[in-house]
Amino acid sequence: MKIEGMEREKKSMISAIAFDVDNTLVDFLGMKEKTARASARAMVREGLPASEKEVYAQIFKVYDEYGIEHQKTFAKVLKKYKLKENEFERIQQAGIAAYLKEKFRCMKAYPQVRETLAKLKGKYILAVITDAPRNKAWQRLILCNLQEYFSEVVTFHDTQKHKPSEMPFKLLLKKLRLKPSQVLFVGDNPDRDIKGAKKMGMKTALAKYGQVLGKNSKEKADFELGNFREILKIV
Ligand SMILES: [Mg+2]
Repeated sequence: MKIEGMEREKKSMISAIAFDVDNTLVDFLGMKEKTARASARAMVREGLPASEKEVYAQIFKVYDEYGIEHQKTFAKVLKKYKLKENEFERIQQAGIAAYLKEKFRCMKAYPQVRETLAKLKGKYILAVITDAPRNKAWQRLILCNLQEYFSEVVTFHDTQKHKPSEMPFKLLLKKLRLKPSQVLFVGDNPDRDIKGAKKMGMKTALAKYGQVLGKNSKEKADFELGNFREILKIV
């Protein structure tokens, strides 16, 4: 009963909810898996001497090593094979074209995201804090048809700092003219999203449904979400 009382108190102070984008609003990993499959297929079809399965694994190896947003992924994969210059470029462009086509086709928000944001928007100020570059952040919101819900969108380019730096969180608070305790932050990465928001004094919710990284992290959120809609239960 005591805990319930405390939680009710916490809830009542919240006036804004801020979200991470990738793997919180948008099924980014799902998109990366589908595009990797499509580009592996296209490059093998174009003559790359390997199996689709092997190329798919190579793509994710580059993501693991250089980051999932690395811009020279296919070039790095193709360097492992002995290809002549024109052949290299032809296969690389087949991979890139397949990636882009599939990306625009398959980029999606998680289930119930739009419906839930629509419900929240009447009661709370909604915002975004993402480590994605400004153009990619907006591209993803537009592709998922989510752009209309947010009063403020803070991207990497606004502070040049990644979470858990305090900078993007501070900037949002300044823009919204709110105290940290009035904001609930929702993200999938304990060591970036939850750590950063907690450090600022915000309430936190971990997007368990999208979590890929930090499964053994010591950073604990105030709430955990098994799906996006569960947000309605905590605010
Ligand atoms: Mg994320």
